[in-house]
Amino acid sequence: MPYEPVIGLEVHIEMQTRSKMFCACPVVDSVSAPPNSAVCPVCAGHPGTLPVVNQAAVEYALRVALALGCRVNPVSIFARKNYFYPDIPKGYQISQYEQPLAEQGQILLQTSQGERLIRIRRAHLEEDTGKLTHLTAEPCSLVDLNRAGVPLLEVVTEPDFHSAEEVRLYAEALRALVRTLGVNSGDLEKGVMRIEPNISIRPAGTETLGTKVEIKNLNSFRALERGVTYEIARQTSLLEAGGKVLQETVGWDEAAQATFSQRSKEDAHDYRYLPEPDLPPLRVEDAWVEAVRARLPEMPWARRARLEAEFGLSRAEAWQLVENDEAGRYFESVMAAGGGSAARTAFAWVTGELSARMNAAKVGFASLSIQPRQLADLLARMASGEVNQHSAKKALDGMFATGQEAGTVIAALGLAQVSDEGLITRLVEETLADFPAEAANWRAGKPGVENWLFGQVMRKAGGKANPQNLRAALEKAR
Ligand code: ADP
Ligand code: MG
Ligand code: ZN
Repeated sequence: MPYEPVIGLEVHIEMQTRSKMFCACPVVDSVSAPPNSAVCPVCAGHPGTLPVVNQAAVEYALRVALALGCRVNPVSIFARKNYFYPDIPKGYQISQYEQPLAEQGQILLQTSQGERLIRIRRAHLEEDTGKLTHLTAEPCSLVDLNRAGVPLLEVVTEPDFHSAEEVRLYAEALRALVRTLGVNSGDLEKGVMRIEPNISIRPAGTETLGTKVEIKNLNSFRALERGVTYEIARQTSLLEAGGKVLQETVGWDEAAQATFSQRSKEDAHDYRYLPEPDLPPLRVEDAWVEAVRARLPEMPWARRARLEAEFGLSRAEAWQLVENDEAGRYFESVMAAGGGSAARTAFAWVTGELSARMNAAKVGFASLSIQPRQLADLLARMASGEVNQHSAKKALDGMFATGQEAGTVIAALGLAQVSDEGLITRLVEETLADFPAEAANWRAGKPGVENWLFGQVMRKAGGKANPQNLRAALEKAR
């Protein structure tokens, strides 16, 4: 019997505001900050302390909710989700349950099978938990509360996904979105955005949902896609063998490339959700919502479509610029300064030649010495034939090191292209005389020799010969 996968996603996204959700502690990098260096009595859960809502966290959350087309509830309610675990010293997590901040959004994905509309069920605010490190050498675990109380937005979809590809595309779109909105760095491997798929399968063509399994600790897009694929296959062979899927939470084991059982899944009633008595209902006024909506930047998917249409880039190229916002803005500035050449060439130079030099020198766009206008100028000189590609790369080296104009570097290094046919013909003749055996092989039609001879002439020309003219001169001399 053919089975159909059904998947819904819960994504926890840290709202990377300056301070935490309910106290004034700073939100610090969980990897580099010393453990327990950003902790106060509120986020450490001392009795008698009181939480106060961080307005910036609500505003960040509104950005995401509105960008996802959600309806914002004018009143939402904080609730206590009760459970015991050492990473949550209060014994409960402040979350939102019955009345979340926002509901009923959607996002449109462009998959290899066509468009897919994914419905967003809800987006609610909560606080993050601390971080546990389980030591292997000693039977003990370390508790770091720096992350406890960091604002989190949980975005929950309807079970609208039917393939691992759709899941990955959604996760990528969401990450590009939170980066564009400036609310999260998108560093999956640091755990600032955590994607938890719920997966079930059912006989194809039926409607009733099967028993779901939730996967945790997927900390890359690759792991996400593999984990989902693995779990679909595992459940399918289980059902095919006459077995039953157990409702549980599983972890992803990166080394084994497999899921492993963590705990049988609890139900909502196990958490004894109660309205949070220390926080009044959260009221979000219409005027605020509209002000946030009015300030939303261009959405990543709209930007991708525009880059494709405006510059003739492929979908993958356009998405690359969306994911790398600074490179994208630089590319658009190059194009605004005339582009200097075809958009595809400008794209290749920004994401290839320029990026390679920046990576090697560990230079970011903020401190880059070459202005977009200067790169456009260089590309224009290459398009007009003033310099060939080889020399343009040398010119770029010089511009990168000094910040000088393309023309200055080309003149100083004598990089201007040699197009003089007489000169090129003479260099061809000299080369053929230097290498009589190769010349004979070439005339006899031996493969590969022509390119080798081409290289020898180019060397004689100091790499500056016009390649078309050189090719033509070689042909004439055959
Ligand atoms: P829980 O309370 O266990 O977190 P929810 O009903 O809130 O479960 O759903 C969590 C996520 O799992 C949602 O994204 C939802 O769409 C998805 N989901 C729920 N039931 C199923 C199922 N049977 N198969 C696949 N996904 C499901
Ligand atoms: Mg869940
Ligand atoms: Zn604190």
